[in-house]
Amino acid sequence: MTAKIFRNSMAVGISVFLLSVALFMGVLYQYFGNQLTEELETEAWLVAKGVETMGMDYLDGLKSSSRITWIDQDGTVLYDSVADPATMKNHADREEIQEAMLGTQGTARRESATLSEKTFYVARRLEDGTVIRLASAQYTVVVLLLSMVQPLLIILVVTLILAAVLASRLSKRMIQPILALDLEHPENCDTYDELAPLLTRIRRQNDTIGRQMELMGQRRQEFEALTENMSEGFVLLDQKGHILSYNTGTLRLLGVLPPAEEANVLALDRTDAFRKSVEQVLQGVRNQCRLDRGGRCVQLLADPVFRDNQVAGAVLVLVDVTEREQGEKMRREFTANVSHELKTPLTAISGMAEIISNGMVKPEDVPGFAGDIYKESQRLIALVEDIIHLSRLDEGGTDLRREQVDLLEVARKTVQRLQPLAKQAGVTLAVAGASLVMQGVPSVLEEMVYNLCDNAVKYNHKGGTVTLSVVPGESGGEVTVADNGIGIPAEDQERVFERFYRVDKSHSKEIGGTGLGLSIVKHGAALHDARVELKSTLGEGTTVRLIFP
Ligand code: ADP
Repeated sequence: MTAKIFRNSMAVGISVFLLSVALFMGVLYQYFGNQLTEELETEAWLVAKGVETMGMDYLDGLKSSSRITWIDQDGTVLYDSVADPATMKNHADREEIQEAMLGTQGTARRESATLSEKTFYVARRLEDGTVIRLASAQYTVVVLLLSMVQPLLIILVVTLILAAVLASRLSKRMIQPILALDLEHPENCDTYDELAPLLTRIRRQNDTIGRQMELMGQRRQEFEALTENMSEGFVLLDQKGHILSYNTGTLRLLGVLPPAEEANVLALDRTDAFRKSVEQVLQGVRNQCRLDRGGRCVQLLADPVFRDNQVAGAVLVLVDVTEREQGEKMRREFTANVSHELKTPLTAISGMAEIISNGMVKPEDVPGFAGDIYKESQRLIALVEDIIHLSRLDEGGTDLRREQVDLLEVARKTVQRLQPLAKQAGVTLAVAGASLVMQGVPSVLEEMVYNLCDNAVKYNHKGGTVTLSVVPGESGGEVTVADNGIGIPAEDQERVFERFYRVDKSHSKEIGGTGLGLSIVKHGAALHDARVELKSTLGEGTTVRLIFP
């Protein structure tokens, strides 16, 4: 812009200069031409008077800068101050002579052969009919200009320098206020009046942009707050698969560090399943797949985003389905185990009943068979009860009513209930500790303590002891069931809490175990936010602690 103004100013300056020189020269040339003609006319009048009075003598004694010629009435040259009249042609055809002959005076201008000069002629008729002609030459404009080349060049250079300096200053002065414009705050700008409408428009547009930016910022914050608090992962892609937005849930679920800005989505996961899912969704196909990340199962839901029937991007949602998967797996296994566990006693009952009904059993053996049927059906009942308890706990125990429970009371009741069994097994049962009142589900707490004590009696030796201690703590407290029975091998200690897991399957069944007792303890503890700790040494005994917060 500055350079353009500078160039234009220079061009104007130079044009004005050249035009001025041309006009000036033209005017001057015209002026001097007229001056010369006037001087020649005066001189011609004087010479004519002199010749009329003195004849040739006047001319002989005359000294003049003009060329003087005396022409006879027939055009013959009588005298010439420059050339020999004898060598000169007849002048009757000359324009100024003819004009003078007709009137008193004639004038003419003629270019020289080289065009370098212009000659002015003034002819005056004397009283005797002869004509006196004065001629004077003037250089043409071109010659004049050529003769003035040097000073003109100097003037041109000076003009150029002046024009350059002035053009530079002018362009700077014109541009400076425009450069100094503060477009962020156009209302504070003190500049050309002509720019005022533009500045007003910029201010209005700034206001609109500001409001829109604020709104966008608010929306973005709301969106980020929403997505950041999601436990699910969320990724927004453009149509080329570049990440436009993501939340921290994504990084946590995929176990990756934040990707670079506008990185390709494959930077988050390079597995085949993820790549295929992204490829499909960017082709407009909604799909989902499972990803295994660090032992966890993540479900990926990929949805394309369309604009004008074209895929404009995609939304990926990642959900941790590990628990759901494990739950489903556990349920499948549980159903299979339950069917198996129920089938065994039922098959035995049905078999024995069939033999009796066929009359294949001697009458004296019938009581024995009936006792076995009773034992198996008791096992079935115990199993079904445990399954019912477990499924209630699986549902989160929402239908179970909580109330104040004294765990010492629960322990005493349990010991009472188990006393016959303990006596039969030759095991001594004892309760110690103080009252521990807490908010809980009485039936579940009773079942938990019963199962632990039942195990401590069942998996014990004759003459063994089982001690139940209830110890109130500062906020919660704990219930400990310790026995000096057979103990649990170290490698099984983790697994005894699994459903239907038994260390010695045949022995457990023999003594009426369902394999669900400790599972119920574990779930019951979770319902009361309690912790279960098991310490056991094979051949020495087992201690299980229920720690209530
Ligand atoms: P069960 O009904 O078979 O007793 P549980 O879930 O109560 O099932 O216990 C699982 C297994 O853990 C038992 O089969 C047994 O092998 C072992 N176990 C539980 N408690 C004890 C204990 N106090 N001493 C020794 N082994 C035990």
